[in-house]
Amino acid sequence: MSIADHLARVRERMARACDRAGRDPASVRLVAVSKTHPAEAVVEAVAAGQLLFGENRVQEARDKIPLVPEVAGWHLIGPLQSNKVKMALPLFRMIESVDSLELAREIGRRLSPGEEMPILVQINVGGEVQKHGLADGGGVLETLRAMGGIPGVRVRGLMTVPPYASDPEGVRPYFRQLADWARRVREAGMDGVEMAELSMGMSHDFEVAIEEGATLVRVGSAIFGAR
Ligand SMILES: *Cc1c(COP(=O)(O)O)cnc(C)c1O
Repeated sequence: MSIADHLARVRERMARACDRAGRDPASVRLVAVSKTHPAEAVVEAVAAGQLLFGENRVQEARDKIPLVPEVAGWHLIGPLQSNKVKMALPLFRMIESVDSLELAREIGRRLSPGEEMPILVQINVGGEVQKHGLADGGGVLETLRAMGGIPGVRVRGLMTVPPYASDPEGVRPYFRQLADWARRVREAGMDGVEMAELSMGMSHDFEVAIEEGATLVRVGSAIFGAR
């Protein structure tokens, strides 16, 4: 099957999940995760109408992005070190993986006057030591409130990478947990903090994520094949 076929199948599965959940299909966007796959694969996906892509490494993205038609937009979905922020800013239209106040501040510092960068705050809902993200606990609200005050940094929502479960149903509680955080943040009412986006769900569990409120699903292998 071609990348176009895979994309069509993923989009169809997304539409069916929206249907089950009573959601408008336009409320969920597909981030096609192209990490480790060559620019040619992305060009093929663009030709099939996919315009939003995710990469988890800044250097890989920097090498790949110039080889892809400019209509494509990119999200950073992997860990960002402070010393790579400057390189990352012009490449991405959203940084989904902001996991500390320090990193958000560094993004703010590196923006030109008047420039804005939408970010998502990554929360480690499963509490696994090897996973990135803000620790799921009392500090989350405080950290988000502080991020909302950083000029140029637009907090647009939350992102998570839950623990792996062979049965996608096993991850449902973690997706609920992220949606709960978004609700709590909304209820707390923070200046400069929007909860418009929930980025959750990957190839094996994006349908469950959609049922639990995902607005961005990050799908790699189901589109581009195994890595
Ligand atoms: C690689 C990756 C994905 C996509 O994973 P697949 O299982 O290939 O769909 C999603 N999110 C993040 C953060 C990733 O690193």
